[in-house]
Amino acid sequence: MNNHNKAVVIGAGFGGLALAIRLQASGIPTTLLEQRDKPGGRAYVYEDQGFTFDAGPTVITDPSALEELFAVAGKKMSDYVEMLPVSPFYRLCWEDGTQFDYVNDQEALDRQIHAMNPDDVAGYRRFLKYSEAVFAEGYLKLGAVPFLSFRDMIAAGPELAKLEAWKSVYSMVSRFVKNEKLRQVFSFHSLLVGGNPFVTSSIYTLIHALERKWGVWFPRGGTGALINGMVKLFQDIGGTIELNAAVEQIEMSGNAATGVRLKDGRHFPATAVASNADVVHTYAKLLGDHPRGVDKGKSLTKKRFSNSLFVLYFGLDKHHEQLQHHTVCFGPRYRGLIQDIFNAKALPTDFSLYLHAPCVTDPSLAPPGCGSHYVLAPVPHLGTADIDWEEEGPRYRDRIFDYLEERYMPGLRSQLVTSRFFTPFDFRDQLGAHLGSAFSLEPILTQSAWFRPHNRDSQIQNLYLVGAGTHPGAGVPGVVGSAKATAGLMIEDMKA
Ligand SMILES: Cc1cc2nc3c(=O)[nH]c(=O)nc-3n(C[C@H](O)[C@H](O)[C@H](O)COP(=O)(O)OP(=O)(O)OC[C@H]3O[C@@H](n4cnc5c(N)ncnc54)[C@H](O)[C@@H]3O)c2cc1C
Repeated sequence: MNNHNKAVVIGAGFGGLALAIRLQASGIPTTLLEQRDKPGGRAYVYEDQGFTFDAGPTVITDPSALEELFAVAGKKMSDYVEMLPVSPFYRLCWEDGTQFDYVNDQEALDRQIHAMNPDDVAGYRRFLKYSEAVFAEGYLKLGAVPFLSFRDMIAAGPELAKLEAWKSVYSMVSRFVKNEKLRQVFSFHSLLVGGNPFVTSSIYTLIHALERKWGVWFPRGGTGALINGMVKLFQDIGGTIELNAAVEQIEMSGNAATGVRLKDGRHFPATAVASNADVVHTYAKLLGDHPRGVDKGKSLTKKRFSNSLFVLYFGLDKHHEQLQHHTVCFGPRYRGLIQDIFNAKALPTDFSLYLHAPCVTDPSLAPPGCGSHYVLAPVPHLGTADIDWEEEGPRYRDRIFDYLEERYMPGLRSQLVTSRFFTPFDFRDQLGAHLGSAFSLEPILTQSAWFRPHNRDSQIQNLYLVGAGTHPGAGVPGVVGSAKATAGLMIEDMKA
């Protein structure tokens, strides 16, 4: 390997951190530059009056991909962070009082499915088989492989065609399962990575098989403890992380990146630059002075972006025993609401919510006897609905609190100690997310794999991407997989 090799990674989200660890572990001196005061990106942490709030990911799946990161650095994950199993994976609730505990126990699942529609017990088993086949093909085989040429895509084609990847998640689930609520139970998962289940490729049914195979986990101390463990790992093996280090420009000499310049004027020279920042931000802003940045930035803005989220964090002076760790609260509409979130020009009047109650698994996230929570509602991104969130935010917060108090958490308002919210404006302004999208490019078939921005730029040969905007896509397993794909390329290129 060239003795003068040095890599810079822009952004310390899960993807940037995982990439930096892999590079450093392979012997490439790596500097990770993060614009905010804490690492994590979407997995930032707020601390307030003894409450700890994980800002984003809370459903941690595929722990083996995380363990692998520690293993490549010659360490054991359990020495850095303890992972706790979560059961049920989720509780799903409807307004008519129906509940479904999605657990990893076939008998308990069969019993609940039978109560909703006896015929669907056999249908579910066939769905699980299908989802396992997609998982084997789409995740195990292709999840961490960089799609750099159309040939890679063609090679994957026959299998994906056999699995009818052009069908939507919902239509595939509906082929196996007839009860509408059960169709919701087995199709909502793509929303966790910004995919509309009525449009997104049925490849995303693999999330179901992935959860059944490896379970749902939560780090003791919250997702932030996992991020801190990854930062410590990176530093233990000699990596450098700089916080409050906003990159303003990727510096170029012709068609090669030579390093980055920060907003505060500092320069970091590098032989390779990787960006974990939003893909539009990377091309249009950080490379905005270079023709490649201008062109690619322009073409990316024509793509479809996934929805945004309204996230409300709140601490209560009471622990609500009746809640599970993860609850999905379905509103009155499913298909109509989702279509509105992805297409309508205004904020829908109804909502479906995801409610996080981490103290069920780890009471240390709040003062004794108290409860730390967040609730999120998927909402349109700023290009779909031009909403003034300065004005709408407080109103939306109040509507969500009213709804939760009435249906899920009696007495909520009188128990409130602290609250804050994060809107599409914050995704745009604090994370640089194009249109305030929470999950980057929408994961539709024509924007997946080779059609997604590549892990290595096709013209600037020492510029790489990692994270939700590149293959395979959003979600913790997705961006950790993207880091593996990108690291493979970088290590190979830098060894040459
Ligand atoms: C509320 C919420 C809940 C979610 N829940 C789950 C879940 O339960 N399970 C799951 O698997 N996934 C979940 N996701 C999705 C998952 O969190 C994301 O897809 C993933 O964390 C994105 O990681 P990333 O590596 O792409 O980077 P990001 O987290 O987007 O981080 C990018 C980083 O780059 C930094 N940056 C940007 N520009 C610059 C610059 N110019 N200079 C320096 N730094 C810069 C940003 O500050 C940020 O820290 C959730 C997402 C959200 C928003």
